[in-house]
Amino acid sequence: MHPPSVDSLARSLRADPALADLPRTMLVDAARAGIAADREHALEAATDAARAMRRSLLGPVVNATGVLLHTNLGRAPMAPASPTGSADGAVRYTNVELDLATGRRGSRRDHTAVLLRRLTGAESSLVVNNCAAAVMLVLAAHAVGRAVVVSRGELVEIGGGFRIPEVLTQSGARLLEVGTTNRTRPSDYASAIAGSPDVAMLLKVHRSNYRIEGFTEEVAIPALAALGPTVVADIGSGLLDASTPWLADASGRVPELPWLRDEPAVRQTLDEGAGIVVFSGDKLLGGPQAGIIVGDATLVDACARHPLARALRPGSDVLTALQRTLLAYADGDARRIPFWNMATLPVELLTARARSIVTALAGTPGADRCTVEASEALPGGGTLPGRTIPSAAVRVHGDLTDALRRAPVPVVARVDDGATWLDLRTVDPADDALVTDALRDALTAHPHAR
Ligand SMILES: *Cc1c(COP(=O)(O)O)cnc(C)c1O
Repeated sequence: MHPPSVDSLARSLRADPALADLPRTMLVDAARAGIAADREHALEAATDAARAMRRSLLGPVVNATGVLLHTNLGRAPMAPASPTGSADGAVRYTNVELDLATGRRGSRRDHTAVLLRRLTGAESSLVVNNCAAAVMLVLAAHAVGRAVVVSRGELVEIGGGFRIPEVLTQSGARLLEVGTTNRTRPSDYASAIAGSPDVAMLLKVHRSNYRIEGFTEEVAIPALAALGPTVVADIGSGLLDASTPWLADASGRVPELPWLRDEPAVRQTLDEGAGIVVFSGDKLLGGPQAGIIVGDATLVDACARHPLARALRPGSDVLTALQRTLLAYADGDARRIPFWNMATLPVELLTARARSIVTALAGTPGADRCTVEASEALPGGGTLPGRTIPSAAVRVHGDLTDALRRAPVPVVARVDDGATWLDLRTVDPADDALVTDALRDALTAHPHAR
């Protein structure tokens, strides 16, 4: 038998709905690879190659890990919206640097600055690509060739190689360490300031992804602010206000969230005397990847004027997404911020959904391996270490994660103690049917636990 032609194979691949959106040139490559790999079963081999190409592209996945801010899955989830914000599908530009009132050139800072001022009390703000960039820019604008005082208990590595001592050196500032790993007192900062004439700032860094417990002491923002030099607080997570007014119900009551306790917040850190606060857009803020610098106008404006600001500025799609998130806060509507919506859903609702999924699987081979279990979701994203949010999961005996990742919309689950856990806190209810289908296919393909 003749092997099929590259052309006819590529056409067959295109007929597969799961592959139809790949460009023809990629399907042709997959067809060639299929023929080279296995002439007898070229279509199967080509399909495998095309699926591998499809999976290597960026695309939507269902997060069933129960980790709300999953760094591998893009941290905070965003509600879909067209980039231009037009509901009718028309392609439009944005007024990112146009002042519509005067018709003159505007500033891309202004749109979100108004909202950030309202939500945090910050006099001024500047948005950059991420929080790492925000720290770099603040140091570059204010501390080149000068000393930056940091507690030894806060010389942390945040993940992805963001190490405070290295960032400081890189920016051209000089690190002045004070205190010890577990205890730093106001007097430690005071003697450093007294002994060094070129202190540019006191930098307080939120430990984010770890805790130290026991015989510990650290200096809070009000005590730091009393010492004289500018206080810069890298709080990381982006909790806008410790009183979480956006979670208030119709009677104005705000639910108590034990997992959020003691997390530093932007508004309170500014009120306590920090000159600058920096934080991420895609952690507890629940917005797009961004780094946000807020605080005293003179200090923030100096960052905006620094040449690096141009290199670190976000595009209008990020600013649009950030503005959408901030508008939801200003509206007091946490349901429009997927992170807060997911984080605060009552666990009973999640349990009921898990039950429906297990019930819908009845009759599938291996369905008896599925149970509904209490679970613990995690805030994640290097925030709130050790804190968990009560949740509910479908537990399947055996490891099905590989098969679930191969579903048409890949489902990412976690494995624990020989079982696959699908935590529903991070799954949009609209995706329960997708999860059910993926589980049914995975069980059918692997009816016996491995
Ligand atoms: C997460 C974090 C960062 C880095 O933020 P990115 O937005 O990922 O660059 C910096 N500092 C602290 C304290 C953090 O928690």
